[in-house]
Amino acid sequence: MIKLANNKVAPLTPACLICQESLPDTLTLRQVLSWSKIDQPLFCQSCLEGFCKIQGPTCGQCGREMAEEDQEHWSDGVCRDCQRWRHFHQWTFRHQASYHYNESFKQWLVVLKGQGDIRGRFLFKRDLQSVYRKHSDAVWVPMPSSSSKLTNKGFNQTALLLDAANIPYVDMLEMKPTTTKQVYKSRLDRLKDRDKIQVKADSGVELMDKQKNILLFDDVYTTGTTMFSAYKALRNEGFSHIGGFSLAR
Ligand SMILES: [Zn+2]
Ligand SMILES: [Zn+2]
Repeated sequence: MIKLANNKVAPLTPACLICQESLPDTLTLRQVLSWSKIDQPLFCQSCLEGFCKIQGPTCGQCGREMAEEDQEHWSDGVCRDCQRWRHFHQWTFRHQASYHYNESFKQWLVVLKGQGDIRGRFLFKRDLQSVYRKHSDAVWVPMPSSSSKLTNKGFNQTALLLDAANIPYVDMLEMKPTTTKQVYKSRLDRLKDRDKIQVKADSGVELMDKQKNILLFDDVYTTGTTMFSAYKALRNEGFSHIGGFSLAR
């Protein structure tokens, strides 16, 4: 019996974590005869085929794939959203991502974050390890959980993904505690929410080499607001070489 983080019990017959279709028994004779531990597949072939890698030209700031019809709105190899970031917030940044934030990716996040079924955390292990090989000199910093629901479950999914890929990291960021509910907030308060991330008090940041490259890691980059907040918090501590990587964009 497999117990999930939310105290639910996983079905006994192996089923795809995303679509719940039962998974075929695909043990080869060699696997049966070997004594090594066999990893049960957790996703069906058709769900796996739904994940889509980012290919082709991408925005030089956020890593978005450049669609042909958008090309006229890009300038300096940067998409329109990032031109705004640069203009209004003087935020020049370098972020990359591996996959499109499509329906399959969303479904995988729902299983991991919404349902708390962390068995799927190894899905992108190889992708992460290959990025790590290129950026092993950087200090990897997982983005803190933005969902209070998740905090209640007691794990931060970005750190969990790095753990699953054996990537060392410094868990030095946290969400600022919120006091007022979103609906009661004034416009000014909501704007201040852009500064929703802070460096942990006990992170030992004062002892760190500020010349080191920092790589902010997140599962998905959407508007950039969260990563901008983390970027600012680290800039305020004196770091100047900060980049970002997310599994999906
Ligand atoms: Zn499936
Ligand atoms: Zn962009």
